[in-house]
Amino acid sequence: VAISNSEISTFDRCRRKWYLAYYLGMVPSDDPPVGNAILGTRVHAALEGYYGYQLDPSDVLNVLYALEADASPDWKTELMAEREIAVTMVTGYLEWVAETGEDANLRVVAVEQDAEVPLPGMPGVLLKARMDQVVYSEETGMLSFLDHKTAATFDSHDIMDLNPQFKFYSIVQRLLAGPDGPPVSGGIINTLRRVKRTERSKPPYYRRDGFRYNDVQLIAALERVTAIAGQIRQARAMLDDTYQRAGGDLHAVNALQRRELYPSPIATLCRWDCPFVAICPAMDDGSDWPGIMTRSGKYRQDNPYRYYRNDPLRAVRDALGKG
Ligand code: SF4
Repeated sequence: VAISNSEISTFDRCRRKWYLAYYLGMVPSDDPPVGNAILGTRVHAALEGYYGYQLDPSDVLNVLYALEADASPDWKTELMAEREIAVTMVTGYLEWVAETGEDANLRVVAVEQDAEVPLPGMPGVLLKARMDQVVYSEETGMLSFLDHKTAATFDSHDIMDLNPQFKFYSIVQRLLAGPDGPPVSGGIINTLRRVKRTERSKPPYYRRDGFRYNDVQLIAALERVTAIAGQIRQARAMLDDTYQRAGGDLHAVNALQRRELYPSPIATLCRWDCPFVAICPAMDDGSDWPGIMTRSGKYRQDNPYRYYRNDPLRAVRDALGKG
């Protein structure tokens, strides 16, 4: 079984959310085609096109938004407005990179690299990561992962010691390299601010910082990952047993999900970071919540790891005749 940082973070944040998203594979069926998350995904694709395939990132965005406008004609106005922000972000980024020489000593080794590596001490469990870029520094002779972020601020640059995603990537990077592998040197965070760049907006709009965790930090992070991966494995075994033995009987499932996969509500967070906020209370009040989920039409089942199979650039390269 392969476990990503997202799955580990979801389980750590709220076991019920993990159960719904990762065990049952439920996702909202009516996610809008615009918004901060999908904008970030499209900007990532534009940068992947630029660094991996020498495509103009504005061309990539134009194609992605045109495809989405065809698929979701009711959202055309919002899509065109969002495209403008995205194109401003990437064109300004290219100017910034040219002015500052940020890319001068970095050679791109891979884009969107999918990595899987055995978790030490837990046979059969793999750690799974997709790194935006792997780069080789001609200055230091070391490999790093480089992560593109789109955000309103640069706050995440100032709390790197707390960042579980980058510690997870650093662990994967170290395990992949092995004791005799190429020298690796942590990561680089590269943030494009999500702003329109009007006269009133204030620069800077771009920032890049390298970081590295020491061995003690990485061992502590590995211990955390190992502990949570063990809990996930145990939770899956209990759920498999309950569904197989009791055939999904709601009483039996509820007894388990309430006791072992209890919710961890943080009211202010749940409202904006959980797609299950509408169904969550029904899981504790005797309702037929699986029936409600199905009948509402607001959720569908999907593979929570589908993201790893997605290749948004495929359609773009075909449309641009550069497949
Ligand atoms: S709404 Fe909150 S408590 Fe309920 S599943 Fe989501 S994160 Fe957990």
